[in-house]
Amino acid sequence: MATRPLRLLDRPVPEPGPAELLIRVLRCGVCRTDLHLAEGDLLPRRPDVVPGHEVVGEVVRAGRCATRFTAGDRVGVAWLAGADGSCRYCRRGSENLCPASVYTGWDTDGGYAEYLVAADAFVHQLPAGFSDAELAPLLCAGIIGYRALRLSLLPPGGRLGIWGFGGSAHLAAQVAMASGAAVHVFTRAPAARELALELGAASAQDSFDASPQPLDSAIIFAPVGAVVPPALRALDRGGTLAIAGIHLSDIPSLSYSDELFGERSVRSVTANTRGDAQEFLRVAERLRLRVTVTSYPLEAADQALADLAGDLITGAAVLTTG
Ligand SMILES: [Zn+2]
Ligand SMILES: [Zn+2]
Repeated sequence: MATRPLRLLDRPVPEPGPAELLIRVLRCGVCRTDLHLAEGDLLPRRPDVVPGHEVVGEVVRAGRCATRFTAGDRVGVAWLAGADGSCRYCRRGSENLCPASVYTGWDTDGGYAEYLVAADAFVHQLPAGFSDAELAPLLCAGIIGYRALRLSLLPPGGRLGIWGFGGSAHLAAQVAMASGAAVHVFTRAPAARELALELGAASAQDSFDASPQPLDSAIIFAPVGAVVPPALRALDRGGTLAIAGIHLSDIPSLSYSDELFGERSVRSVTANTRGDAQEFLRVAERLRLRVTVTSYPLEAADQALADLAGDLITGAAVLTTG
């Protein structure tokens, strides 16, 4: 981020295709994936793409085949922007694994902008009871955290460990605690540890500290492969570790007896389906999740990403447009 890789440009307002919506951006969340893209950990799929995939906006105009929303509707645009709907993964309900899937702010222009177009079928209805700024982080951080939580197979009333405590983790932790789980948080950022305890975490410690209890499930949100062995060691027999990020630095070699034996599992989490999104947004509304937000003007997107890289943001960063 030291080279300030983002550029502020003037572009014409995009035209929606027949099955697309033109959306005026109100808020756009800043996700770690945007940082990976800006820093080159994730290779760009298009030159000069506009990043941003946690978009809260207002429908300006619908294409002639776009029937789900009308002008004036407040809607959300998330990471998954399209899938072919016909491959073997899509047919079994895993559109997140579709080889032809496309992503907002990676394949298509995203929400670090005043306007964007999005496929009607992949746009989300938003839950009530949240401000625009609070809604933005729900749209990726929230959804991915929810999928990661589901894939970590946390039993009811179980013990969950969370490594890294930013936008995604602070939402997933609340969903877990609402189901009666004891949540243990591991992060190097003191402000994040404080937020975790304030939200009701059973404990909060540094990333490489030992877990106070053997864990049924663990989720790694930090993009740090070095925490995989300690997270696996913290798992009880039969426990599952889910790795939530799209990018992870290399994992050190594992000891089979200390880190895997006892039927411990490790799995990745790859994007999300529209079903995950709908389910999570309903859960967020029902539990009235507390969303902690730090706001930046659109022009300060570079600063927001730099602060995210430096672990300086408590909760989630959100850009304010216009
Ligand atoms: Zn497919
Ligand atoms: Zn994201």
